[in-house]
Order: sequence, then structure tokens, then C-alpha cells
Amino acid sequence: MNIKNNIINLRQSLPPTCLLVAVSKTQPPEKIKEAYAAGQRAFGENKAQEMLQKYEAMPNDINWHMIGHLQSNKVKYIVPFVYLIHSVDSFKLLEEINKQGKKINRIIPCLLQIHIAEEDTKFGFSPAEVEKLFQDDSLRELHHVKITGLMGMATFSQDKERVRKEFRGLKQLFEKLKTFDLPNHVEMKELSMGMSGDYEIAIQEGSTMVRVGSAIFGERVYP
Ligand SMILES: *Cc1c(COP(=O)(O)O)cnc(C)c1O
Repeated sequence: MNIKNNIINLRQSLPPTCLLVAVSKTQPPEKIKEAYAAGQRAFGENKAQEMLQKYEAMPNDINWHMIGHLQSNKVKYIVPFVYLIHSVDSFKLLEEINKQGKKINRIIPCLLQIHIAEEDTKFGFSPAEVEKLFQDDSLRELHHVKITGLMGMATFSQDKERVRKEFRGLKQLFEKLKTFDLPNHVEMKELSMGMSGDYEIAIQEGSTMVRVGSAIFGERVYP
């Protein structure tokens, strides 16, 4: 794998408005440094402690994106520095992020993860739940989170039309939520969708952030 070329080629295939988040979970520092040398600054991790270790070891102009399921008791490890949490999958987690943000007087940027795939193993709010949440006053009291959009993962499938339909559904929800009367700290501008296998479809359906791991770094080796 030539990490640098992969990044350059990927960037060329993305619209300028779409951010490439290089998913570096399980990847060692040398590989992250190669990506960094190619100018990559947005990296995605799915475990709080691994992200903290890498944050401490890597250059400090990297923007760290949390993309994996986050347990409430791990939130405190990442709130001081995390750039964006893509994977807020419950109101309870949002409250904990708010609480930890308040403690250190920082507003934490978050996306709400929406369940769009058919598999029921994937975390997230249903479209109905998020609509209800946005009409609910309890959200208005969370002053230490800023919700800037939505994240979703399509079904892991070769069926491209199905994947497209799921992304399209998420985009429609995103557009619908924009029309709601939202508090100042909720703004629908980012749509995080697309991974190595489906980012091309995601871009066509309006993604503003793709999360790409194996197409940059090669297959992950789990320790
Ligand atoms: C691992 C992961 C990715 C990247 O997956 P690839 O198929 O390697 O590109 C993207 N999003 C989430 C939420 C992930 O956990």
C-alpha cells in the first residue's frame, strides 16, 4: 500500500466540499505519520483510549474524529481535545458529553448517528427518535454540546441500489431537520456518510465527510 498516493488519489475523487477523514483505528504511528506527511490532518478512531494515546504521541495539529460507539465512562478521556464525535447514538451519551464538556468549559462538536442499515447490530437513533428529540425541550438545555449534523452507516452489502437508498434516506432526514425550529447550538451542516466500499455512492448522495480506512491503509490487522 502506498498511503501517500492513496490519499492523493482519494482527495482528487472527492468534491472540494467533502472532508476526507482517514480512519486510523488499529494502525501504528508510522502509518499515521505517512498519511500526515501527505498533508492529511483529519483522522478517525473508534476507541477512546487508543485515540488519547495517539493524540498524545502525534503532532498537535491533527483533528481527531471519534467514529465508534462511545461508552459513557470513556467520554472524559477525549472531551479535552476531540474535534468531532460522529457517533452520538443515545440521549444519555449526549448528556454525558455535555456534562464532561461543562466540567472543562468546552463545547463539544457532535453528530447524531442515525440507524439507516437493515442490520440491527448497528447503533444509532431511528429517524423518528431524532425528530422527536429535535422537538423536545431537553435538548435546549445542553449548552456544552454543539450538534452540527448526522452520521450514518449503510448496510454492508454488494447491493449498490440498497446502499444508495439508505444514504438518500439519511440525506432526506437531514434536509427535513433543517426546516425545524432549532436552538442555536443545533445546526444541520455536516452529513458523515461513506466508507471505503461505498464512499462514491455517498458523495453522489450528498455526503460532506467520508470516513475511509482500508482504502488508505490497507486491510486492518487486529492485534
Ligand atoms: C472502521 C470504520 C470506518 C472505515 O472503514 P473502511 O471500510 O476501512 O473504510 C468508517 N466508519 C466507521 C464508523 C468505522 O468503524
